[in-house]
Amino acid sequence: QAKAGGKDKAQFFSAEMTARAEQRLYMEAQLRHAQALNQLQLHWQPRVCAHSGRMLGVEGLLRWQHPELGAVSPAVFIPLAEESGLIVQLGAWVIEQACAQIAAWREAGLPAFFVSINLSARQLRDERLINTVRECLARHAVPEGQLELELTESMVMDKASSNLLQLHALRALGVGLAIDDFGTGYSSLAYLNRFPITKLKIDRSFVHDMLEDPSDRAITLAIIGLGHTLGLKVVAEGVERPREAALLREARCDELQGYLFGRPMPAEALPRWLADQADAAPG
Ligand code: C2E
Ligand code: MG
Ligand code: MG
Ligand code: MG
Repeated sequence: QAKAGGKDKAQFFSAEMTARAEQRLYMEAQLRHAQALNQLQLHWQPRVCAHSGRMLGVEGLLRWQHPELGAVSPAVFIPLAEESGLIVQLGAWVIEQACAQIAAWREAGLPAFFVSINLSARQLRDERLINTVRECLARHAVPEGQLELELTESMVMDKASSNLLQLHALRALGVGLAIDDFGTGYSSLAYLNRFPITKLKIDRSFVHDMLEDPSDRAITLAIIGLGHTLGLKVVAEGVERPREAALLREARCDELQGYLFGRPMPAEALPRWLADQADAAPG
């Protein structure tokens, strides 16, 4: 029985526990209680204007700190949450946190900026999503355009018409819709402009190799051109080096995000980051 508190915990670290399947079950059971036990936190990564360097928004990235497992990567626990269906509940918490954070920063006197969060396919298929988003926006008086949701290509391209209805309903609530990791999935270009999306987010694998690999550079430039042709904003993620930023700026990419500008950080750290940023960039 993997659903254990303190007293059964030792047995899970016994020598028999070598199977990956058991590890997964254990993690999944722990994840079920992570939110109630205050082990989850959103960290926020700045997104800046490619031209002015000014912060335009932040992306919320989930962090799980477990007493025995330590810091578990979202690359590990998000898929677990998706497979178990737990993501619907976790995702609703993330939406609430994002809206509450927008209100908290506003009350702290910070200038308005958007907050972007990641959405899983399971959440988009859940018919409660629209109500959850609507209620959170209203509860925290979030202005139109200040919440953005990041979807994947497959979620948007999914021929299920219910997905399309959900996306339209979200847009009607004033929520921005970005396609995350763009270029890694299978987008039908013919379909792209039929969906109510607002941004393309170039996958960091292209950005990372752009300076050395001519084809990744070509793909990056093509995505920027495509996005602009369709009237969308284009974001580059995973920007780590000044020369990448310079090239993206030259190519008229709109927004940049990556370690070069800032790592994901707890909410309390953001005002300080903003102040340092203002000092560094005069004017
Ligand atoms: P993502 O949405 O594509 O997020 C970008 C990932 O790249 C984040 O990893 C971020 O920390 C990392 N990153 C940002 N800048 C750089 C950089 O300059 N260089 C490098 N090498 N990496 C950079 P993270 O935080 O580990 O998240 C991994 C993925 O987990 C996310 O990818 C997203 O798909 C998923 N995820 C995170 N939080 C949530 C959530 O609340 N809900 C859902 N559904 N998925 C989430
Ligand atoms: Mg994302
Ligand atoms: Mg991404
Ligand atoms: Mg991703």
